[in-house]
Amino acid sequence: MGLFSTEAIALKGKDLGEADRLITFFTREVGKKRAVANGARRIRSNMSALVQPFTVSRLYIYQGSSLSRVRSGEILENNLALREDLLLMTAASYLAEMVDYLLEEDDPQEEVFILLLNSLTILKEKGVQPILLRSFEIRLISMLGYQPRLEHCVKCTREIKTGEGQAFFSIGQGGIKCSNCREEMDKTISWGTFKVLNRLLETPARQLLNLRLEDRVQKELESLLVEFIEYRSERRLNTLSFLQSLLAEPS
Ligand SMILES: [Zn+2]
Repeated sequence: MGLFSTEAIALKGKDLGEADRLITFFTREVGKKRAVANGARRIRSNMSALVQPFTVSRLYIYQGSSLSRVRSGEILENNLALREDLLLMTAASYLAEMVDYLLEEDDPQEEVFILLLNSLTILKEKGVQPILLRSFEIRLISMLGYQPRLEHCVKCTREIKTGEGQAFFSIGQGGIKCSNCREEMDKTISWGTFKVLNRLLETPARQLLNLRLEDRVQKELESLLVEFIEYRSERRLNTLSFLQSLLAEPS
């Protein structure tokens, strides 16, 4: 593949040898990409600035037979504010973690790239809004082909009428179920939660930031979407419990 150029968001990194770091980037053109950044731990190196988490840059990457290396790059947006505040940093790490867990390397997903780019911007401008996190979760899984099915029962295909009793959601089958088809393991959700799920699918996060959610709806949404993502990625979202504990602290 040789040398190529791509727009990239740094997701995370780990030390390698004396001065290098192995960075996981999410790129617009080639999807998730791990690459070695030589000298990234030398404080004043240009490389060290490029690989800071959530930095958006134009990178030149050399793809070798086994390993890719960052040759050089220019910063487009340093997103410094996301690293200077613990809550913002934790929320940004949570978004980055979901992308990292759900995507394979070298699988271009431009729509997801734009979603992450926009969500980091909203986070910086508006702070940590639970509705932004929920919107990100449902949009991410939908873009990757697992959009929750909310119109018909996923088992018997009967149309779901809102307002009758309660709604049931099957994580494994990825959608809503009628009361006849519900099984023990399915989640019970209120119709309020069902309606917000629909709105989150229809409306971009930026237009929903003023939406106030009842506590119950907020809890049901979070538990459903997080379980859905953990089921699909077969991983535990490690950052979530720390983020929850920060959000629970009185400000
Ligand atoms: Zn049914």
